[in-house]
Amino acid sequence: MLIAVSKTHPAEAIQPLIHAGQRHFGENRVQEAQGKWPALKDAQEGIILHLIGQLQSNKAEEAVALFDFIHSVDRPSLVAALGNAQAKLGKIPGCFIQVNIGDEPQKGGCPTADLPSLIDQARAAGLRIEGLMCIPPADVEPAPYFALLAKLARGHGLAGLSMGMSADFETAIMTGATHVRVGTALFGERG
Ligand SMILES: *Cc1c(COP(=O)(O)O)cnc(C)c1O
Repeated sequence: MLIAVSKTHPAEAIQPLIHAGQRHFGENRVQEAQGKWPALKDAQEGIILHLIGQLQSNKAEEAVALFDFIHSVDRPSLVAALGNAQAKLGKIPGCFIQVNIGDEPQKGGCPTADLPSLIDQARAAGLRIEGLMCIPPADVEPAPYFALLAKLARGHGLAGLSMGMSADFETAIMTGATHVRVGTALFGERG
């Protein structure tokens, strides 16, 4: 599944992709997506929106309302907030648990050691877990990290693997990605 990452790009840059048949788009900020997508969705049926960026718990309800998939579920407080938002809105987006696959300090995502308990919490809270997501460490060969994410997903019985960006989507696909998140290679450099 190709997710066209349209963050920072205006509606005029997105429309040609919609006209070419692209339906899955990724944004990393709730507020930016709220500004751009309602009108684009009104103009074209079948648009599927993916939130790929870090999500604050106090934005969980807005995220559930707008997005079809959330790729950045990475901590218990967010799991709880999403569970409450789903119950309140009666809408259940698909979600991916974001894993800090290189266990890098400062990096988003659930530490690998905490993954089993976070998956249990997400299931208990009623989240619909599609799979795992990662952003591998920069400037090193990503294949071992993609392979590790695939192994973790298999171990938890999860089919979805959201991994691969413009620089490494071929490697991600070869290691089993089901969802690639590609921005620059489709839209050009972000301003
Ligand atoms: C911006 C972003 C992408 C797309 O990155 P490109 O290098 O432009 O393809 C993919 N995933 C996440 C989480 C992002 O924030």
